[in-house]
Amino acid sequence: MNIPSSLTPLVQENQVLETRKLIEKARKIVITTHLSPDGDALGSSLSLYHYLRSIGKDVRVIVPNAFPYFLKWMDGADNIIVNTYIPDVAERLIKNADVVFCLDFNTLKRIGDLGEHVEQSSAKKVLIDHHLSPDTIFDVTISYPHISSTSEIIFRLLLQLGDYDKIDAVIAECIYTGMMTDTGVFTYNSNDPEVFEIISLLLKKGIDRDLIYKNVFNNYSEERFRLLGFALSQRMKVYPESRAALIYLSKEDQKYFTISKGDTDGFVNLPLSIKNIIFAVFIREDDQLVKVSLRSQGSFPCNEFAEDFFNGGGHLNASGGEFYGKIEDSITLFEKGLEKYSEQLTNTVI
Ligand code: 5GP
Ligand code: MN
Repeated sequence: MNIPSSLTPLVQENQVLETRKLIEKARKIVITTHLSPDGDALGSSLSLYHYLRSIGKDVRVIVPNAFPYFLKWMDGADNIIVNTYIPDVAERLIKNADVVFCLDFNTLKRIGDLGEHVEQSSAKKVLIDHHLSPDTIFDVTISYPHISSTSEIIFRLLLQLGDYDKIDAVIAECIYTGMMTDTGVFTYNSNDPEVFEIISLLLKKGIDRDLIYKNVFNNYSEERFRLLGFALSQRMKVYPESRAALIYLSKEDQKYFTISKGDTDGFVNLPLSIKNIIFAVFIREDDQLVKVSLRSQGSFPCNEFAEDFFNGGGHLNASGGEFYGKIEDSITLFEKGLEKYSEQLTNTVI
């Protein structure tokens, strides 16, 4: 077998064996991933989907809600079941599954209504993820927070399952998409040399990096760009003393530009390009709640900030949370947070 030798095995051997056993025994498999699926959520889910199909399993990908239009080109995306569109089907599939793979999230709260179905299902549950503090309800917990994408964990798992040869160009493309999007096209969390060894192997499987980049990032709508211009000029507040910046968008702002799902993805990162800004927050008013996205540089823990003020969490440098109330009040709360964290913000070395 053509297994690349220089990669360090990641997944514990007993977890590899357990996963193999569960897959072998299973006939019906469900893969699910977090709310508002991103490139890594879909990349990891679809790569595993294609792999499991190639070995003859009856497998479905179920997502809690719609995913952005700039990920629809992905092979298998057309077959994804969206819970908000056909909840009965999603519920039945989860109930009847032998194994449920939970990808790219750490707690069942992150999959909305699907969480209850997964919890109640008699299926064996396998978590594959890179967020901190996973729930303890899974039969197999493959959790590696230091790995920058779940898609990379899938690649390493397939390798350790002895199935490197089963990774074809389609599977490789899905894995690369997740690795690329979760690292900002390898501009953060990507100093591990093995990330680039994996990319090299994926290229050998026949992926077209340039095309994948174009499919994801050069396919935005005109409306997104007009909204972006507006957001940067009219809705960005910079707090130089706190080394922080905020972009906020009300429901009205979003309605005026008639944008689609995913059109504000990536806005949160932009203020980090301003000199001396190490903490960027994006606040968006949705139908039921105010969604908060946070990003930081260096050792500043934006996940702690999210936990402290927005009932959320996530990674050290990328986190999220929610606020129930008026958008103005969420901004006031954020500003209160800046005061509390002012010393840490000032002292963070990047
Ligand atoms: P994003 O800003 O891209 O929506 O989320 C970035 C990261 O923050 C996610 O990968 C996830 O770890 C975390 N995150 C986002 N929203 C929430 C939330 O509502 N609760 C928690 N606990 N984590 C979140
Ligand atoms: Mn991820």
